[in-house]
Amino acid sequence: MTLTMYNKKRNFKKTPEPKGMKARHEEALRFIVQKHDASQLHYDFRLEMDGVMKSWAVPKGPSLNPTEKRLAMQVEDHPISYNTFEGHIPLGQYGGGDVIVWDQGTYHLPQTTNPYINEKVFIDELERGRMKFVLEGKKLKGIFSLFHFGEKNQWMLVKFQDMYARKTDITKDPRSVVSRKKLIGRREDPKKYAKAVKKSKKV
Ligand code: MN
Repeated sequence: MTLTMYNKKRNFKKTPEPKGMKARHEEALRFIVQKHDASQLHYDFRLEMDGVMKSWAVPKGPSLNPTEKRLAMQVEDHPISYNTFEGHIPLGQYGGGDVIVWDQGTYHLPQTTNPYINEKVFIDELERGRMKFVLEGKKLKGIFSLFHFGEKNQWMLVKFQDMYARKTDITKDPRSVVSRKKLIGRREDPKKYAKAVKKSKKV
């Protein structure tokens, strides 16, 4: 699930996505959720660790409701520079379709915000297949757990009961937290999608 796989899957002459390179951080670990209208609409949940963004595709998107466990399929690591990527990957290319930054922020252990302790512990928790962290995003806040189960790349993302738990569906808020753009999915509204692509070749 390394950056080598990320680079192998993409033709950088044809996609506007960034090339995969490792980068070091000095401050809080970042997390990001990108809404991605590929062959299947999904949300890419990414956690910064060890110089890359560890990544999971969440078909239904994250939930703030502790009773709703969300399937999260681990996919190839992405470069940290991918965090600012929003745009249109040409159809026919790997992951072809629109991408917006649906949420972004930092994440840390419930016990400490020290980035060095955090990174060490999270690398270990990922290896063991059970992570517990606090998200400080614009849409996603509070304690979450990500745990491995069943098949090789199958994980579950679930909200803990805390002051940020909600019954309302957070994916109903469709806008990018960066550009305020709304991803118009080709299956959500095919006519609008065709118009938007024609007009801007972008989201
Ligand atoms: Mn994706």
